[in-house]
Amino acid sequence: MPLPIVSHSAYEATLPDGHRFPMRKYGRLAELLLERRLAPNGFVVPEVASAELIALAHDRTYVDQVFACAVPRELERRIGLPMNEGVARRARASAAGTLLASRLALEHGLAASTAGGSHHGQRETGAGFCVFNDVAIAAKALKHEGAIHHALVVDLDVHQGDGTADCLRDEPDLFTFSMHAEKNYPVRKIPSDLDIGLPDGVQDDTYLEELAAHLPRLLDALEPDLVFFNAGVDPHREDRLGRLALSDEGLRRRDYYVMEQTGNRGIPVVAVIGGGYTHDVDALALRHTIVFEVMAERFDAA
Ligand SMILES: [Zn+2]
Repeated sequence: MPLPIVSHSAYEATLPDGHRFPMRKYGRLAELLLERRLAPNGFVVPEVASAELIALAHDRTYVDQVFACAVPRELERRIGLPMNEGVARRARASAAGTLLASRLALEHGLAASTAGGSHHGQRETGAGFCVFNDVAIAAKALKHEGAIHHALVVDLDVHQGDGTADCLRDEPDLFTFSMHAEKNYPVRKIPSDLDIGLPDGVQDDTYLEELAAHLPRLLDALEPDLVFFNAGVDPHREDRLGRLALSDEGLRRRDYYVMEQTGNRGIPVVAVIGGGYTHDVDALALRHTIVFEVMAERFDAA
C-alpha cells in the first residue's frame, strides 16, 4: 500500500479576489500529488469535525461562534480570514483530517494530510490565518481515548507555535517543540515546552545543525508514541512572510532528517503542511509536495 494521504475538497475555501492568504495552494497541492502518483489510490477523506471534538482543545464559546459564523469582528480581524461557512467548514475538515491522518500514522507508521498546521489557533481564539488548532485537537483526542500516552509536536514552520503551546499548556505528556525565526510573528510568544528562536537569514547548514542539536535528544528523552510534524515551507528564502533563507534542498534535507530520526527509533509520524506564502501558487504547492515525496520514499522502503 502507498503512504496514506488524507485530503478533503473543503481544504480549499473560497476567498474574495486578491485576498493575501494563498488559499489556492491547498487545491493545487492535492492536484500535484495526484499528478505525481504520490496518491495512486486517491486520498483518504475525513468527515468534518464536530463541535465536541474541537472543544477538546478550544473554548466552547469560540467553537460555537465559528460554527454559527458569528465570530466577533475583533477575532475575525485577528484571524485574517472572512469567517463564513466555507472557512468554518474548512477548519472543521482540516481538524478532522489531521486526526484521521494521526490514526493512520499510528496504524501504518507514517501518514500525512494536505492541510493542517494551524498552530496560531489558541484556546479562546484563532489568529494568523488559523481558525482551529488541528494538531492540538488531534493530540488531545488521541490522548483522551488512550491511543497515545506521550506525543511530541515538532513544529518547523518559520513562525512560533504559540497556539499549540496555549492549547496544550496543561498537557505535560504532549510536548511542544517549535523552531522558528525569533523576530517573526507572533510578537508575543506563548512559550512552548522548547522554543528555539533563530536569527534572521539562517541558511540550510546552520538550520540543520540546530535541528540536529535538539531533535534526537528530545526523541530519546520523551520516547513519544507519535510525532506531529508541522512541515511549514515558510523558512524558504523566497517566502514573503519568513525571515530565514532555506533552499528547496534544505527543506528536503530537513524533512528527510525528521523521518530518519523518528524512523530509526520506530516512532510514527503524522505530517501536516503548515505555512508557506509566495505569490507563485504553483511554486508554493510544489514546495509543499517535498514532505510527501520524502515520506513516500521512506514508506515504500519500509
Ligand atoms: Zn508560518
